[in-house]
Amino acid sequence: MKCLYNGKIIISGKLYHKKAILFDEKIRNIINEEEINNIDGIEKIDVKGKYISPGFIDMHIHGFDGFDTMDATEEAMQAISKGIARNGVTSFLPTTMSMPIENINRALDNIRKIKEKGVQGAEILGVHVEGPFINKKFKGAQKKEYIIPFDYDIINDHKDIISLITIAPELEGALDFIKKVKNETNIVLSIGHSDATFEETLEGITCGISHITHLFNAMTGLHHRNPGVVGAAFTSNVSCELIADEIHVHPGLFSMLLKVKGLDGIVLVTDCMSAGGKEDGEYELGGQKVFVKNKRAKLEDNTLAGSVLNLNNAVYNVYKHTDYSIPQLIQLVTLNPAKVLGLDSIKGSLDIGKDADITVFDEEINIAMTIGKGKILYEI
Ligand SMILES: [Zn+2]
Repeated sequence: MKCLYNGKIIISGKLYHKKAILFDEKIRNIINEEEINNIDGIEKIDVKGKYISPGFIDMHIHGFDGFDTMDATEEAMQAISKGIARNGVTSFLPTTMSMPIENINRALDNIRKIKEKGVQGAEILGVHVEGPFINKKFKGAQKKEYIIPFDYDIINDHKDIISLITIAPELEGALDFIKKVKNETNIVLSIGHSDATFEETLEGITCGISHITHLFNAMTGLHHRNPGVVGAAFTSNVSCELIADEIHVHPGLFSMLLKVKGLDGIVLVTDCMSAGGKEDGEYELGGQKVFVKNKRAKLEDNTLAGSVLNLNNAVYNVYKHTDYSIPQLIQLVTLNPAKVLGLDSIKGSLDIGKDADITVFDEEINIAMTIGKGKILYEI
């Protein structure tokens, strides 16, 4: 059994001082600090006044430290898993892209294998399949020729490992696909890379879509006579991803977004590509060259190509631009993604009995220690 003490424990948006958290692979107890001296055989870790938070969950991340999910190798998945633990991430959804179907299948098979075998860093919860069932008009950094019509069979072979699929609900066959996925799997459906109107979006939501992929980016925007995907996201109770790197969405909107959707409605994601954790230079994403300069990742034609954002910095960026406290905002990378994925009974907060996924950080959310299921994955 281990114990973290001399920190500020974040529980349900509030801070608890002079408490200690006891855990093995699960959280076992939260007790008064002075009581830890009465317990024999525990490893005591002094966090020196830092925050003790639930571990972060990134439900949209393509790569890190020079590796990509589409590499479909064990080396890549281990490197991403270990790399993002430095950012306080304890679990994640490796995210695939529109590529030839055999590449997507290979990536999915690889993730299944590594998930069973176990990773050295952040835990793999499942896969976010982003494309190929998206709209070419809003392809973003996905390659046009790999975008294809809906095909349930591709999903059927991997429904055990897929957690979430990003789709465009306005495309032919979408509604049948949505209904089939909802009837036959536990997969969460999300709208993204979409040209849907307000009405088409709402129809998709009625059929079973419950989430929006990187709100504002690669979708119809908010116009007062044509409110698009963004307008439908604002007027329904779907959860919304936000890439809070201060590049994909103007930070002046962070506060408004949290007011409209509430603290329960936003999930911060990185959408990070392989250059995350690395220096500026030339990288690759979905078979296309990406140029990274000053924290911006762009294709040759200037299209934003994912991000190089770290999830801890995403939280800090929202903190800087809004009036919410760090304990309040932690929900956006812990409980909210856990709820979207239906995993909030085991992850997302420091409740007794949940997995001991814990992140320790300072006032600027610089990560000091990352713990996954009781094991120290990273420490400074
Ligand atoms: Zn993405």
